[in-house]
Amino acid sequence: MQLACLDLEGVLVPEIWIEFSKRTGIPELSRTTRDEPDYDKLMRGRLAILEQHKLGLPDIQKVIAEMGPLPGARACLDWLRERFQVVILSDTFYEFAMPLMRQLGYPALFCHKLVVDDAGYVRDYILRMPEQKRESVKAFKALNFKVIAAGDSYNDTAMLAEAHAGILFRPPQNVIDEFPQYPVTRSYAELEAAFEAAGRSI
Ligand SMILES: [Mg+2]
Repeated sequence: MQLACLDLEGVLVPEIWIEFSKRTGIPELSRTTRDEPDYDKLMRGRLAILEQHKLGLPDIQKVIAEMGPLPGARACLDWLRERFQVVILSDTFYEFAMPLMRQLGYPALFCHKLVVDDAGYVRDYILRMPEQKRESVKAFKALNFKVIAAGDSYNDTAMLAEAHAGILFRPPQNVIDEFPQYPVTRSYAELEAAFEAAGRSI
């Protein structure tokens, strides 16, 4: 019984905040944990900017729906779902991800939640739990699944380490250098081949 755990942003869909910043022309929203390592400070800053620009959740969701998944993502996800149980583990929020999940055929998604007021403004966020990617893999292993995990960046490496096999997809060079133990894939065909190989080896 093999289970595939996939990161969402950078693997199946664009980086949501960066793409949102481009599409709305609000450059401050492209700041990431690389620029502001304190995640809570980063998120509070983002929510304040959204309010300043009078962007409520429906406006945000409209922009996100127009982004669409990455080209070829849906076909790759469907390929994986025919061969593995697939769960997407992401640090995004359900309210942001839903317009994209519709375009991916509503796969199982574990992520976090926003608090939205009656006027549609995002007031707060709730992390489902700390380290949810790694903790989810741990729990799947306790349920007797063999887990293969794939992600693109630093926040995926704990999940990759916890899994029986880990795969990098279009990672930045610093992640490749620091985690040379994982195969690097750059196209969906390579990602599928890496899943097949991992499935045989675990
Ligand atoms: Mg990612």
